[in-house]
Amino acid sequence: MAEPCLSCGACCASFRVDFHVADLETSPGGCVPVALTVPVTATLVRMRGTDEGPPRCIALAGKVGQQASCTIYENRPGPCRDFAPFAALGIGDEGCARARRRHGLTPLGE
Ligand code: SF4
Repeated sequence: MAEPCLSCGACCASFRVDFHVADLETSPGGCVPVALTVPVTATLVRMRGTDEGPPRCIALAGKVGQQASCTIYENRPGPCRDFAPFAALGIGDEGCARARRRHGLTPLGE
């Protein structure tokens, strides 16, 4: 099976992605482009597009389930790095399965 995270993108078009401002490029050690985020509180920001209906992160390129990729992969925020850590190996989890089902895709491993 081809590496699913190189084609899927369902998680990037399913959930709200909020994270601490420390992940922003304007913070020491941070890297996420500020222009791709919206402020939520004084300490929290959100990836643009992830709270729209339907959600889709502004950094996601391509078509979900066919060929989709994160355009800021090396600089993506913490929640994206932590999400479904074994999905790249074809092993999903509950959140991954929920996102895939939402887009009409079979959960990994089924
Ligand atoms: S930053 Fe990248 S990995 Fe995170 S939700 Fe957006 S497209 Fe997906």
